[in-house]
Amino acid sequence: MAIKTQKGTKDVLPEENAQWKKILDSAYKIFRQANFKRISTPIFEATELFQRGVGDSTDIVNKEMYSFDKNGHSLTLRPENTAGVVRAFLEHTMQRDIQPVKLWYFGPMFRYERPQAGRQRQFHQIGVEMFGSEDASADADCIYTAVKFFESVGLQNLSVELNSLGCNDCRDKFRAKLKALIEPHLDSLCEDCKKRFETNPLRILDCKNPDCKDVFEKNQILEKLSKLELCEECSNHYEKLKSYLDMLNVKYVENPFLVRGLDYYTRTVFEVKSENLGSQNAVCGGGRYDNLVETLGGPHVPAVGWAVGMERLYSLTEKVEEPKLDYFVVSDNIKEALKLANELRSKDKTAELDYSSRKFAKQIEKAGKISNYAVIVGENELEQGTLTVKNLNTFEQQTVNREEFLKSL
Ligand code: ATP
Ligand code: MG
Repeated sequence: MAIKTQKGTKDVLPEENAQWKKILDSAYKIFRQANFKRISTPIFEATELFQRGVGDSTDIVNKEMYSFDKNGHSLTLRPENTAGVVRAFLEHTMQRDIQPVKLWYFGPMFRYERPQAGRQRQFHQIGVEMFGSEDASADADCIYTAVKFFESVGLQNLSVELNSLGCNDCRDKFRAKLKALIEPHLDSLCEDCKKRFETNPLRILDCKNPDCKDVFEKNQILEKLSKLELCEECSNHYEKLKSYLDMLNVKYVENPFLVRGLDYYTRTVFEVKSENLGSQNAVCGGGRYDNLVETLGGPHVPAVGWAVGMERLYSLTEKVEEPKLDYFVVSDNIKEALKLANELRSKDKTAELDYSSRKFAKQIEKAGKISNYAVIVGENELEQGTLTVKNLNTFEQQTVNREEFLKSL
């Protein structure tokens, strides 16, 4: 039996490549403008990195990791890249470099989830991380960079949802209030939420189970919860962030119940959603993580970042066709065709040949499908040092001097 792709994985086919490349080209351009430098970390890391970095009580670590043992070491295919980038930051003592350190990444991530539209087991993320600034201007600039990036790839109908989770102190009060409101309804919540109630109650707000959402609505939990009250410092930080976003003309909606699914966030969290996606409507998520570097054994280095799902981004952007080739060399002399195609390539043109000496009509038919011009080198042309250049859109053709033609390119 033929071997197929694994559930939740996909081939990115050659015809999809032009659109992928356009997105990546935009990333390079926008991130370069804002002084983010690309980093690539390994696809597998010590399992412990994610247990400590992403958090033991998250869905990602509890249910979604691809982990395996090798030589007595537990390894995991990275489910996200922030933990890996923080590890690299510390391993290469980037805290001694010019601060802030601004990095971006692109690559595959792996999560054992139930595959559905917009949700795969191997998917790709583009993300940025900024280390070394606690100021709200860093959050604002990261969010603005995301907005600029989305604009540059032509995304429309996006909304930015914004919240502040405050510091540990701010969250303690909010958590206690949430627990008190939920406790009477605990039996009606899903098994995951029952566990979350013990390990990380805030995460219940992020539950996607419709029954849990029902319980929340019926009992008006969110209304009664009201928003998280921030301490003075966290409140100032959040107000400053909003004033910077206003100044940059970034439209956002405050969502006091946005918590995000990861353990490491402090203060700012945000999500970018698209009306044009179905139920998996989040394109991008991020926030501030001032304690993560310390959690992973480093000094206190405040940081902020975000990640966007490449496949969801791809589905929201316009199809891009690979342009046709410049030239297709048509000849019954394979050696000459090979030579000429490579001379054209060395002039920075795109060129193909047939690797056969079959009938010219067949070669030209194929050329018409993939190329703008056919360059014909038959017996006559070879004898006279000429080429016949045929425009495959208008079918006009012209015989030119071989040397002069190549020089003119
Ligand atoms: P969701 O709520 O959709 O599960 P998440 O909070 O788990 O998202 P993050 O870990 O913040 O997502 O990842 C950021 C982005 O990566 C998401 O907004 C989404 O675009 C993308 N993403 C996450 N998981 C998947 C997946 N399994 N398949 C495809 N894209 C994904
Ligand atoms: Mg998820």
